[in-house]
Amino acid sequence: MPCKESVICNHDTFPKIPVTQPFLPPFEEYVQEIKEIWETNWLTNGGPKHQKFESLLKKHLKVEHANLFVNGTLALDLAIKALNLNGEIITTPFTFAATTHAITLNNLKPIFCDIELETFNIDSTKIEHLINENTSAIMPVHVFGNPCNVLEIERIAQKYDLKIIYDAAHAFGVEINGEAIGNFGDVSMFSMHATKVFHSIEGGALTFKDKNLMNIFNKLKNFGIESEDSVSMIGTNAKMNEFQAAMGIVNLQYIDDLIMKRKELTFLYRELLENVKGIKVHQDLPNVKHNYSYLPILIEYEFGRTRDELYEYLTSNGVYCRKYFYPLCSDFDCYKNNVDNSDLFNAQYVAERILTLPLYPQMKKEDVSRICQLIRN
Ligand SMILES: *Cc1c(COP(=O)(O)O)cnc(C)c1O
Repeated sequence: MPCKESVICNHDTFPKIPVTQPFLPPFEEYVQEIKEIWETNWLTNGGPKHQKFESLLKKHLKVEHANLFVNGTLALDLAIKALNLNGEIITTPFTFAATTHAITLNNLKPIFCDIELETFNIDSTKIEHLINENTSAIMPVHVFGNPCNVLEIERIAQKYDLKIIYDAAHAFGVEINGEAIGNFGDVSMFSMHATKVFHSIEGGALTFKDKNLMNIFNKLKNFGIESEDSVSMIGTNAKMNEFQAAMGIVNLQYIDDLIMKRKELTFLYRELLENVKGIKVHQDLPNVKHNYSYLPILIEYEFGRTRDELYEYLTSNGVYCRKYFYPLCSDFDCYKNNVDNSDLFNAQYVAERILTLPLYPQMKKEDVSRICQLIRN
């Protein structure tokens, strides 16, 4: 990235800081874990690693039922198929493209609901007036790992007989009042992509209440195959392979420690940005166990510079941040002419001011200090 003349450039003195970096466990530990694959010659299709990872994950996420997938996007796709949804799904525009795409790829219509300014999550007080006879489900996202207003969403879903699928891609290990986040709604999807808090190279998991879904998910991710002589469903190929599961097994031993490191860095950011006018940093929510997956800040009017100006400045100093999530899904070229995006004021406000700063467990405290110093300048 070339330096801009108008800014002081520290390229020569400081290394570049990426927005995130995947964690890799010690090489030997992973090799040890995959060694058995050479003995069993079982590479995919629900082998021993898959079974072991599924059961470890269930324990870790404190849920009764879990099913593994090759990635989070296909897991979400199959959750929609398994629940037989139709018509319209109420969701948030402030999310990653995969949330909305999972809806539209199923020939369903996303109905975008505005978000809360405090949590960036779907505003549960604005859901009810979007419900009509075509609505079949609500698909909220626990954005940046901050839990949605799950009790209110539950109340609404019960009142109108709607399903709830949570996109919990960011919320690995999060708890509300001691209750694991995967226990809310009908189904929750966790992404275990390399850049997420916890990963299995690529990977996805669904957690759910209804135990009958287990068999349906097993079939949907394996071509709908019931048995050797029978295919009972129109399924796809979304199976997690043994190498992914092995990475998940090894990484699970490190996750608590990694989240601790993220927490320390997050608290340092908060401390160093506390008195910067116009910079708003998330604080912990009461009674929530956080996973510190991202470090989003809002750049507001009082800061004196726009988000885009700060983005350029940090980038030109080797600090790679993200405008995450900008643009809103409702403003994507592939959606903007087909959806109602007229009543999304908070979402627009946040999308125009959001910046996600570098945060990953291997990051040095000096890097956090340098980034905050750059912002203060
Ligand atoms: C990462 C992500 C997904 C997709 O998960 P993959 O495992 O990458 O397919 C879906 N929703 C959100 C909010 C995400 O951040």
